[in-house]
Amino acid sequence: MTNIQLIGDISKKTFGTESQIWHGENYELLNLESTHKFDPSKLAGKPNNLWRYSDSIPINNTENCVTFEEGFTPLIPITFSNKNKAWVKQDYLFPTGSYKDRGASVLISKIKELGIKHIVQDSSGNAGASIAAYAKRANISCDIYLPADTSEAKITQIAAYGAKIIKVNGNRKETANQAFEAAKSSYYASHCFNPFFFEGTKTFAYEVCEQLNWKSPDAVVLPAGNGTLLLGCYIGFKELALAGIISKIPKIIAIQTEACQPLKLASESQNFNPQTYESGYTLAEGIAIPNPIRQKQMLDALKQTNGKILLVSETEIIQAWKEMANQGFYIEPTSAATIAGLMKFQEEGNDELVVSLFSGSGLKSTEKIAKILKS
Ligand SMILES: *Cc1c(COP(=O)(O)O)cnc(C)c1O
Repeated sequence: MTNIQLIGDISKKTFGTESQIWHGENYELLNLESTHKFDPSKLAGKPNNLWRYSDSIPINNTENCVTFEEGFTPLIPITFSNKNKAWVKQDYLFPTGSYKDRGASVLISKIKELGIKHIVQDSSGNAGASIAAYAKRANISCDIYLPADTSEAKITQIAAYGAKIIKVNGNRKETANQAFEAAKSSYYASHCFNPFFFEGTKTFAYEVCEQLNWKSPDAVVLPAGNGTLLLGCYIGFKELALAGIISKIPKIIAIQTEACQPLKLASESQNFNPQTYESGYTLAEGIAIPNPIRQKQMLDALKQTNGKILLVSETEIIQAWKEMANQGFYIEPTSAATIAGLMKFQEEGNDELVVSLFSGSGLKSTEKIAKILKS
C-alpha cells in the first residue's frame, strides 16, 4: 500500500507513517489517509484469512505480519422468529474470541515493523485480550489497564498471555485516562486512538462484499461502543466504492443500549464533547462506552451513509441472546445487543440485504449468561 500518511483530526497536519508516533501536536487524534485503490486481481492465490487483502493493508513487509491466520469468518444466513432473515458474520470465532483480532493483527504488525518493544493499552476486556495475545506472539511487552470490575474471565485471559495488568479503581473513562498518561512515555496501542487498528477492522467490509460476490449489502447493523468496527467498516466500504467495485456504501445502523447512548444524545444535543455522558448498568459491557473519542467521526459515517442509531433495552438484549442460544449460537451478551438491534431494524419493515455479526464469544461471559438463564 503506497501514498499513506497520518493526518491530525482537526489541525490536518500531516506525518509520515514510518515514525513511532501515535498522536499529533498536543496529543491530537490522528487519522490515516491514502490514495490506494483496492484491486481484486491482487487476491489471486491469497490465503483464506484477512491477510489476503495485504495489498490494501499498510504493512510494508509481509514478514512483519503478526497473525494466527485469522479472519475470513463465515457469513451465514439466519432466520429470526419474526421470520426476518439477515446475513451474520461469525466474528466470535476469532482466536481470542472477538472481532478485535482484526484490528490487533494489523496494529501489532505495524508496531513490530516500527521496532517498538513496549506498548500500553486500555480496555473493558476483549480489546485487551486481543492486543495481549498478538503482542505476545510478536514478543512485545504490554501493559493493559482495566477497570477493577472487569470480568474475571477476561482478566484471566489477558494474564494468560503474559501482559502486565493494571487494575484501575474507577470507570472505563478513568481507566482510559490513566493508560493515556502512561502511554506518553511508551506507545499507545489503543484500539480507539490508534488509526492502524481501523486498517484491520476495515477487512470486515472487504470480506462481506467478497462473500456476497462483490455486492454491497443495503445495510450493515453494527455495535457502537468506541466504533472501532463501525469506522473500520466505513473505511473499507468507502475504499471499495472508490475503486468502483461496489456502487454504493451500505447504510450503517449503529446499535447502542438505553443505558449507554452517548451517540444518540450527542446527535440530538449537538454536544460532541466526549466527556459529557455517563453509562448506566448494561449487560452489553462491550458497548458501555460513555465517552467514545471518535464520536463525531461515527456520527459523520451515519450521516454519509444515510444510517441511524437504534437503542435496545436490557429485556431486548436478553430476548435476542435467548433466541440465538436456541439456534445453537453461544454469543457474548454485548453481541446480543447488536442482534437485538438487528431484529428491531428488520421489524421496521426493512427487507433489504442486511448484514450484521456475532462480535464476541459467550465463553468469557459465564456469570452474565448464568444470570440470563435464570431470568
Ligand atoms: C469491542 C466490542 C464491541 C464494540 O465495539 P466498538 O469498537 O467499541 O464499537 C462489540 N462487541 C464485542 C464483543 C466487543 O468486544
